[in-house]
Parts: sequence; structure tokens; C-alpha cells
Amino acid sequence: METVLVTGANRGIGLEFVRQFTNLKKQVVACCRNVEQAKELNEFAQKNDSVSVYELDVTKQAQIDKLSKELSSQPIDYLINNAGIYGSRKVTLGSLDPENFLNVMEVNCLATLKVSEAFLDQLAKSQKKMLVTISSQMGSITDNDSGGSYAYRASKAALNAVMRSFAIDTSHLGVNVMTLHPGWVKTDMGGGNAFISTTESVLGMIEQIEKHGKNDHAQIFRRFDGKTIGW
Ligand code: NAP
Repeated sequence: METVLVTGANRGIGLEFVRQFTNLKKQVVACCRNVEQAKELNEFAQKNDSVSVYELDVTKQAQIDKLSKELSSQPIDYLINNAGIYGSRKVTLGSLDPENFLNVMEVNCLATLKVSEAFLDQLAKSQKKMLVTISSQMGSITDNDSGGSYAYRASKAALNAVMRSFAIDTSHLGVNVMTLHPGWVKTDMGGGNAFISTTESVLGMIEQIEKHGKNDHAQIFRRFDGKTIGW
């Protein structure tokens, strides 16, 4: 049975990854930062033996190390770096907030890189070796024609940059690195006006993950529907 690890698995896109990978008969390691409050995830795990729930705040190195040690002998076929934050929506030019900026950078970029580093051994010894990072089209410099969102845009652009290096540095291990844009999705982050449901987004992303070719990892930034996005 292949194993999937999902961060930020308690709601939104992360929870939908847990549901769909479970339906695809994968074993799912569902990580969230507050296990006791993860009601929907816990209920789903109670009904599905293949889902285990673990505590993981991606910014806490001690928790990353603890989980990696606990799962040291567990091959991880798909590592889904999904956890992310938008940061304060009140911040605009004229009121830039360093604390908000650094917090968004830490969660979206540095923490994702540290989680990927910590689970590299488990990925490398799996069959699929898929490292999937949920980025955002808002991190595309080419695509930015509306400005604003300084922290979020910068964090996702930086995330794309570090994942490209990660792809190059781990290609000798056979690790496949993908950065994906999920679409504009109806979640707490995406809001009610978003274009697509979590179901449609995750269906599309899993299709892209399964189609992913070896060695296109360092070159392509894809949307959930397969279209490519300029860096
Ligand atoms: P969401 O509904 O706001 O969910 C965010 C998830 O990330 C929650 O599970 C949250 O956990 C978790 N998280 C935040 N900080 C964390 C931390 N320090 N450690 C562990 N988990 C943490 O957002 P979403 O729409 O599902 O977004 C998922 C991913 O898709 C994000 O990376 C986001 O940037 C990306 N994305 C979303 C859209 C969209 O339209 N929705 C578009 C482009 C990209 P808590 O419940 O504990 O806060």
C-alpha cells in the first residue's frame, strides 16, 4: 500500500487530499497542528483505518524531527506540502508589517523546505518518490498584473525557487518534485467567491501528480488543470 503524508490536513484542500487519497486506497499520514480540534479529520480517520492523524505545526522543528523519527522506517510515496497561510489582508503599501511578512515567509517557504528536508529519506526509499508542493499562481512574477499581496506573493515565489533547487539537489535520488497551483478554490483562504470546489481542485491535482514525468520537475510550474504557469 502506498503512503501519502499531507500537511495542513484538517481543513480545505488538505482535508480533501486525505479523502481522495483514501478513496484511492493509499495509507494516509494526516498532519495538523491541533489534533484535538480537527473534528472532521478525526471523524474521517475513525471510519478509515488507513488514515492516521499526527500533530505537526510545520514551523516547529522539534515536531518535524519527532514525526520524522517516528516514521523513520516508513517509505513515503507522496509528500504533499499543503499547509499555508495568506497572512493579514489589511496590509497594503504604506502599512507593510515586517512581522506579518516574516510569518508568511516562514510558514509558506522555510517550513515547507524544512519538512521536505526532514522526510527526504522516507521519500527516497519509496516507490513513487513524489514531493508535491502546493504553491500559488500568485507566486508567479510573470503573471502578476494586479500588484499587492506582498507577503503571500513573495512567499510563494520564494517557495518555487527553493523547490527548484530541491529538485536539482535530489534528482540523483530519483525524487520527483512538483509545484502545483490548486486553482482559486472555495476554502477559508480562497473564500466563497472562488471558482472551484476542493473536490475539483484535488481531482485535477492528483491527475497531474499521476501524469508527472521524470525529469520535468525542475522546469515546470503547473495548474490543477495541467496548464503551465510562467515562473
Ligand atoms: P485553508 O483552508 O486556510 O487551510 C490552510 C491549512 O494550512 C489549514 O489546515 C491550516 O491549519 C494549515 N496551516 C497553516 N499554518 C500551519 C502551520 N504552521 N503548521 C501546520 N499547518 C498549518 O487554505 P487552503 O485554501 O486549503 O490552502 C491550502 C494550500 O493551497 C495553501 O498552501 C495555499 O496557499 C494554497 N492555495 C490555495 C488557494 C485557494 O484558492 N484556496 C489558491 C492558491 C494556493 P489550521 O487549521 O491549524 O490553521
